[in-house]
Amino acid sequence: MSKKDAKKASKAAKTEKPAKPVPNSPDAAPSFDTLCIQGGYSPQVSEPRILPIIQSTTYRYDDLDHVNRIMTLQAFGHKYSRTSNPTVAGFEARMNLLEGGVAAVATASGQAANLLAIINIVRPGDHVVAASQLYGGSFTLLNSTLRKFGVETSFFNPNDSKSEIEKLVRPETRLIFGETLGNPGLAILDFDKLSDIAQKNGIPFVVDNSLTTAWLCQPLKHGANVVTYSATKYVDGHATSVGGVVIDGGNFNWANGKFPDFTTPDPTYNGVVYAEKFPETAFLVKARAQFLRDFGGCLSPMNAFLLNLGLETLHLRMPRHGENALALAQALEKHPNVTWVNYPLLNDTAKKRINKYFRSENGSGILTFGIRGGLDAARLFVKKLKIAALVVHVADARTGVLHPASSTHAQMNEEQLRFAGITQDMIRVSVGTEDVGDLIADFNQALNT
Ligand SMILES: *Cc1c(COP(=O)(O)O)cnc(C)c1O
Repeated sequence: MSKKDAKKASKAAKTEKPAKPVPNSPDAAPSFDTLCIQGGYSPQVSEPRILPIIQSTTYRYDDLDHVNRIMTLQAFGHKYSRTSNPTVAGFEARMNLLEGGVAAVATASGQAANLLAIINIVRPGDHVVAASQLYGGSFTLLNSTLRKFGVETSFFNPNDSKSEIEKLVRPETRLIFGETLGNPGLAILDFDKLSDIAQKNGIPFVVDNSLTTAWLCQPLKHGANVVTYSATKYVDGHATSVGGVVIDGGNFNWANGKFPDFTTPDPTYNGVVYAEKFPETAFLVKARAQFLRDFGGCLSPMNAFLLNLGLETLHLRMPRHGENALALAQALEKHPNVTWVNYPLLNDTAKKRINKYFRSENGSGILTFGIRGGLDAARLFVKKLKIAALVVHVADARTGVLHPASSTHAQMNEEQLRFAGITQDMIRVSVGTEDVGDLIADFNQALNT
């Protein structure tokens, strides 16, 4: 990120809540790798060097007026750990700095993060335009659960032309949603195309960055307005904790007439008007004040501590995931029992987008391949693996495999599977950080049988 962006983000992190500022010499903003380790928390003399776990629901005050100011959003401060906590705030501040946003809120899970981001924008009767290649839970949230609450979604293929996607936008459309790296089709979003459509229609562009992370791609730099995370994936990196994050880019005009919840008084906070009182961070303040309060999907201090610890090696793990995945993809391409391999760096369209939008020429750790013999062969294959294991998870240090059509996406019918880019012979691999020679040998022996 540029020095200016880092300063802005650090200032916003400060105004959003009393988390400690990032260490910063007056003329040099810390680089991405330094922010991974030290961003969001800088202890004073004799304070813990490590972001401490503040395992407290409750905070103490001296006078009624101070509490009143906090409760009515006149001042920021921790009041109760459902809406904020110092350990969680440290993790939020680091995530915000890494993405280059203006403020962040952590949630109990990635699902809670996507729900929070979407529900903070839409009302019953509104409409969403979303990519078809989505995490299974995001698909059911949009296609099934939110429909029951009166919010409709139309889906596009991430490789559809701009005019095809534009045709889906209706007067009541209120946001565009996609994943940087589609799951499990592995399409890379065309940020320019989607942010153009969003801008033209005065609606925000929301991007789930879980499977790439800010180390590979910073969607806010490419026209996204809100970034969401399942921190359960690469942010944690070790499969210990479920968590999520929503990051506000501070780059959308919520007062353009389409979002009355931002421009009319909120009676539950003495009539505050979010877009007026918090022009930079309206989105995040409203998400926290209304929906963490009412839906309660907050992150625990313990999980915030573990997720924050995960971030301290993000910049070391991500390159290794990418290198291992590329080498395994190339080895699989040569195997006679593998009918196809999909890894974005081996695909021209995806590679162009990586060159354009990614911070690094690396890919992520996720690949898919087709196994000769389909579902029956897949059954045998997963039993033979010795180092890799069958898991319903992606993006941690241990290599895992999965058969999406019978597991994460089992709720889809044949047509939905095809639209999401999933076939019956597809194996998804989350390539870990083990020795890649060991991984290749393991896959070869399991495929040989
Ligand atoms: C896992 C995942 C989610 C859901 O996150 P949870 O932490 O499991 O609730 C959302 N989006 C993507 C891209 C994911 O991989």
